[in-house]
Amino acid sequence: MPATDEIRRIVEEVLGSADISGLLGSLSAAGQTASARTGRGVFADVESAVRAAAEGQRELIGLPLDRRTRMIEAMRAAVLAHNESLSREAVRETGLGNVVDKQIKNALAAEKTPGVEDVGPSAFSDEHGLTLTERAPYGVIGAVTPVTNPIATITSNAIGMIAAGNSVVFNVHPNAKGVSNRLVGLLNEAIGAAGGPQNALCAVAEPTIESAGALMRNAGVSILVVTGGPGVVKAAMGSGKKAICAGPGNPPCVVDATADIGKAGRDIVAGASFDNNVVCICEKEVLAVDSIAEGLKQAMRAAGAFELTGPQIEAVTRLVIPTPRTAPAESAPNKELVGKDAAVIARAAGIEVPAGTKLLLMEVGKDHPLVWTEQLMPVLPLVRMKSAEEAIELAVAVEHGFRHTAMIHSHDIEKLSRMAKLMNCSLFVKNGPCYAGLGQGGAGYTSFTIASPTGEGVTRARTFTRERRCTLVDYFRII
Ligand code: NAD
Repeated sequence: MPATDEIRRIVEEVLGSADISGLLGSLSAAGQTASARTGRGVFADVESAVRAAAEGQRELIGLPLDRRTRMIEAMRAAVLAHNESLSREAVRETGLGNVVDKQIKNALAAEKTPGVEDVGPSAFSDEHGLTLTERAPYGVIGAVTPVTNPIATITSNAIGMIAAGNSVVFNVHPNAKGVSNRLVGLLNEAIGAAGGPQNALCAVAEPTIESAGALMRNAGVSILVVTGGPGVVKAAMGSGKKAICAGPGNPPCVVDATADIGKAGRDIVAGASFDNNVVCICEKEVLAVDSIAEGLKQAMRAAGAFELTGPQIEAVTRLVIPTPRTAPAESAPNKELVGKDAAVIARAAGIEVPAGTKLLLMEVGKDHPLVWTEQLMPVLPLVRMKSAEEAIELAVAVEHGFRHTAMIHSHDIEKLSRMAKLMNCSLFVKNGPCYAGLGQGGAGYTSFTIASPTGEGVTRARTFTRERRCTLVDYFRII
């Protein structure tokens, strides 16, 4: 479908049959111009980006709320309209994941990130009068984004942060700067076309770790929202500013004897191979009770997993974790293979796998380095456990206290409940693939910034607000 028709369909769906020709014209032009140049909002240095974003935020909070709602609708429509080309560009530029799954992630972020409706007021009224609580913006947010979900993270952050009345300066991952900054330009054009301010979203043209540091130190930035590995989380938490930090994980998936084994096998393969496992929430190791382990592996093979055996396990392990550390220490995965297709990884180890293979499965012992490592690639270790209790205990250990994400397949309510409590994670999925926890085939909204170290969990517009209370004594209760 041509881009203009696609935008029309999406905008009509979102806005109904109102007169949308002006918005459509501008959005369409935006797509063409933004792809041809860097895009509005992209600045040579941090200081100019922060100054422009501060001006953008002053304008934004002066606008009526229904304008902000239109801006959010236009941002959603712009991402959906350009989803395929953005996804292709992301795979080309980063070398990670695959186009089909990236489109699913990006559509999820565009459609299911909460908007302005998430930042409504609340009130208390009693014989002492009326107290109103409103959610105010912080101002300019400094956001650092990852290479693994560049489009989905920027889309979801931008929608939530703008809906809450903030502006944003993005310091995107250097290895995804082309597609990320093009997206910032597209979103800015969409905001402008919907009557919003210029530079509500800004970015640094040549982002580096140094420019991320400069953003963290800039006096014009009110809070930080960072999404990435341990390095950026540590830097943000040590910055002296309030920081909302989404860090690494190593999600275990327990399967016990009461699970629907066929469904568990399908769900695990779907989740662990999603975008070649680069998403932080993807299943990273399976801990299966001995009595169902064979059946589970069979179900996984039927769903597209290729089971490695004997010397194949050793060859792939040597390749994907070149310098293993002893458990419980985490090892470093081979960067060259992060986010690559299962067949590419197998071939690099001299193994040919059937067409359509989504995941490489290997049964290993519990001290195997892959069990303790966030591999971010479609190579999944499975450990045979004596009991569900033992599996849950190991799940807690291999998650390293990140409190990020975990999964269980079981119909034993005691086990479901016990693991949820012991893991104490931001996301816990029962009887589904990991992404059900992000609202893809599971109830609820989405986000691609899951703030475990700082505790906000699955972030949303209201996460990016300051609560402000206003009390009127003795009056305005009307009952
Ligand atoms: P990364 O940590 O290499 O980079 C993330 C961002 O932080 C980049 O923009 C990078 O330039 C910046 N950065 C890195 N070190 C920094 C430092 N010391 N100071 C300032 N900035 C710094 O991570 P990645 O490879 O892009 O993404 C994968 C990692 O991110 C995985 O560990 C994954 O679990 C995690 N992640 C978590 C979430 C979540 O919601 N919790 C989402 C996506 C990715």
